[in-house]
Amino acid sequence: MITVGVTGGIGSGKSTVCEVWADLGAYILNADDLAKQVMVTNPEVKQQLIDHFGSESFLDDGQLNTKHLAKEAFEKGRVKELNAIVHPKLPAAASQEIEEAEAQGYDIFVYEAALLLENLEHGSMDYIVLVLADEDHRIERVKQRDNSSEAEIKQRIKKQRNFEKVTDRVDYVIRNNGTLEELEKKAEIIYQSLLPERDT
Ligand code: ATP
Repeated sequence: MITVGVTGGIGSGKSTVCEVWADLGAYILNADDLAKQVMVTNPEVKQQLIDHFGSESFLDDGQLNTKHLAKEAFEKGRVKELNAIVHPKLPAAASQEIEEAEAQGYDIFVYEAALLLENLEHGSMDYIVLVLADEDHRIERVKQRDNSSEAEIKQRIKKQRNFEKVTDRVDYVIRNNGTLEELEKKAEIIYQSLLPERDT
């Protein structure tokens, strides 16, 4: 099985690429979903969340109180503190999912994460794909997707790294400044080149 990391800034088109690949048969793991899973299943993480962000971090039924944590993290500027609790646990949790995907017979495992280059141990993915789009496209697309304001999106972009500067650290760059169909086509072509060779 081939492991592929997909990264890029907000609204660059990562999830769209992953949707295309899911349709083509890849196993997709989203880092945000994995982080949420770790927050409710890892006892050490759970305790730390309660210690740092209060018992309101969890609802009565044990579910994550995402509203409370989002407020603490984003409105009170405590994202780094939250990440410091959760992110160290992600590589091991991702490895477990990789094993599961392998056992289920998938050819390609895809890990989608904006912080991929920071949080994965170097070399833990066979290939890294970077999705890039110009800022004006990203703002327009996220505005439409999330109904958020331009100022809010610009703030979020500012907090991320400049992905144009890491093109030399990745195996594939997808430039997503055209139509959705063009992006889908590019994603399909890369998928075919990632697929392991099969004897016929
Ligand atoms: P985030 O980091 O915020 O999760 P992302 O990198 O996963 O963003 P997507 O969700 O794939 O980005 O794309 C952002 C939005 O832009 C989506 O609504 C998607 O359908 C749309 N989109 C992506 N590429 C294009 C395109 N080429 N033309 C038009 N819309 C696009």
